[in-house]
Amino acid sequence: MTAVASRSRAVETPTRSIPFGRPIIGDAEKAAVAEVLDGTMLVHGPRVERFESDFAEFTGGGRAVAVANCTAALHLANLHFGFGPGDEVIVPAQTHTATAHAVEFTGARPVFVDAEAETGNIDIAQIEAAVTERTRAISVVHYLGLPVDMDRINAIARVHELHVIEDAALAVGATYKGRHAGLLGDCGCFSFYPVKHMTTAEGGILLTRHDHIAARVGRQRAFGLDRTVAERTMPGIYDVTMLGFNYRMNELQAALGIEQLKRLPGFLARRKANYAALAAGLAEINELKLFRSSQGVFESSYYCLAVMLEGRLATRRAEVVSSLELHGVGSSVYYPGPVPHLTYYRLKYGIDDGDFPVAKSISDRSIALPVGPHLDAEDMAYIVDAIKRAVRDAR
Ligand SMILES: *Cc1c(COP(=O)(O)O)cnc(C)c1O
Repeated sequence: MTAVASRSRAVETPTRSIPFGRPIIGDAEKAAVAEVLDGTMLVHGPRVERFESDFAEFTGGGRAVAVANCTAALHLANLHFGFGPGDEVIVPAQTHTATAHAVEFTGARPVFVDAEAETGNIDIAQIEAAVTERTRAISVVHYLGLPVDMDRINAIARVHELHVIEDAALAVGATYKGRHAGLLGDCGCFSFYPVKHMTTAEGGILLTRHDHIAARVGRQRAFGLDRTVAERTMPGIYDVTMLGFNYRMNELQAALGIEQLKRLPGFLARRKANYAALAAGLAEINELKLFRSSQGVFESSYYCLAVMLEGRLATRRAEVVSSLELHGVGSSVYYPGPVPHLTYYRLKYGIDDGDFPVAKSISDRSIALPVGPHLDAEDMAYIVDAIKRAVRDAR
């Protein structure tokens, strides 16, 4: 854009302020947190267990283990299966760096697989070629909340005897064939970071259909002790049977989580309605391509609405984003680059710039637009107008 154009636009005041994400904390959450603070149990109290069972009930099954954040859940999941040096785990290139870090921390090697262009999810057709005799697991990510085709993942896993971990950080409320994300592989990891579907400030949960996984992960999140505080007959007396971390969730977080869960169905309905309104409004803009969303057995959690900039806009993302910003519309990028292109992985594994071209193009050319429950239909109409203006200005 020209200097004159940007100056004249800078003096306009946005008529709305639409942040990409914002936690919604009400009086019930505040009262619940205050109640914890008024008591004596900040950790080891009853709320974490209650939150775990409420969350498991919401997802329709399985056992939930609450932890400090989703990255801790992913780390515990990878450790649980005993991965270590010499092992390989298949990881999508298009994900949050935590998915790969969790593998790396065990000493195993993340073997990256490119994304499919239509959804941003791992390109399942390329997984077989990445499997070697050292492969131990497939760690998938439900990209922006759209479930991966888990029947195909599980079929590959069965043939090669692999574990399946789901990074379901953005998939609270997402289902595949009617089953909630996180219950489709061996275990799934969720995030309650502030801008996600519900929040506990920081927080995460490992969800699994397998009691033995929940039991062991539950101990490894708390130093590897053989009994919880509640299980001790003699205060202070316990044994240690394994290495473990302090990855516990505390009572303040769980109090928030219990209240947020009650509102979650409403949050999810709003996301879905916002997504539909925004998608309809953007459909007529030729320079934008939307990712495939819910379809048939795939029900998204609608984390955001990501668009690919096409044609002459393909190299103009910075202009589009700043035009949106000028009009008060927040956006984000998922993700800043394919994980293997980020410096740590690029240097460690000698990755080439041309590797993972689909993930690279999504990272370079996509914009994630907000559909969160802090927004309504009028906000969606406003975003459509702002996008149209940004597209026009960037021509
Ligand atoms: C946010 C996110 C994480 C990390 O979650 P934390 O709770 O912040 O540790 C991991 N994976 C994905 C896909 C995410 O979006």
